[in-house]
Amino acid sequence: MSETPLLSVRGLTKYYGARLGCADISFDLHEGEVLAIVGESGSGKSTLLSCLSTELVPSAGEVHYRMRDGMARDLFGLGEAERRLLMRTDWGFVRQNAADGLRMGVSAGGNVGERVMAIGARHYGKIRATASDWLEKVEIETGRIDDTPRGFSGGMRQRLQIARNLATNPRLVLMDEPTSGLDVSVQARLLDLIRQLVRELGLAAIIVTHDLAVARILSHRIMVMRRGRAVESGLTDQVLDDPSDAYTQLLVSSVLAA
Ligand code: ADP
Ligand code: MG
Repeated sequence: MSETPLLSVRGLTKYYGARLGCADISFDLHEGEVLAIVGESGSGKSTLLSCLSTELVPSAGEVHYRMRDGMARDLFGLGEAERRLLMRTDWGFVRQNAADGLRMGVSAGGNVGERVMAIGARHYGKIRATASDWLEKVEIETGRIDDTPRGFSGGMRQRLQIARNLATNPRLVLMDEPTSGLDVSVQARLLDLIRQLVRELGLAAIIVTHDLAVARILSHRIMVMRRGRAVESGLTDQVLDDPSDAYTQLLVSSVLAA
């Protein structure tokens, strides 16, 4: 691991008016590392992710990201164009609801190709070939390349969203409940695919999930949130096998009991 973290979060806090979204969140993420953020509904997971993706402006705190040139930059100090380009190329964001992360009226190939163009590809044949390769990687028949995701199943849409987000060779991917809302068998296959791609590409990832089994399968480290705050964090296996915080103990035991 390199010395400077890829992402460094300090004291990140977000209020919606008087309502707390998340408070005083700090962590480092290194290249190739997968962090799971777990906690029950309303614990602040999505708020945190939206602050990291710069969609929300935090009320306090700092986020630094090490750019490809090695310089750590304050995310919220980037110019608008630079920030947008970063989010479309160096970062991916896989949303819980695939329809929010895809262009539903655009073909599957177009959904991937659009991102490939954002990193400078201009040759139609090459863009289409890259899109086709990506469809194959996420187990979508390449014969569907000209179809829009409207006719796709939930699992296929989510796989297409993953292809769209990974096609630019990003260094960091945020995922918000990437497998929830899908049938259990579809979830298992999708989890396998995510794990395989993250490893293969050496991606750093932050995966928000309310499902501890998902965290166990995908992540190296885990952060448990409750009411906007991080109550426990550490190596995933250690935290889940031997939680020290009372709330984490409750979470783990309720999963075991289920
Ligand atoms: P999670 O993703 O863990 O379910 P959220 O980040 O969505 O949690 O929510 C954390 C807290 O912030 C909750 O109390 C929620 O009601 C509140 N919240 C989330 N989004 C908004 C919003 N747009 N306006 C006001 N309050 C919000
Ligand atoms: Mg959420």
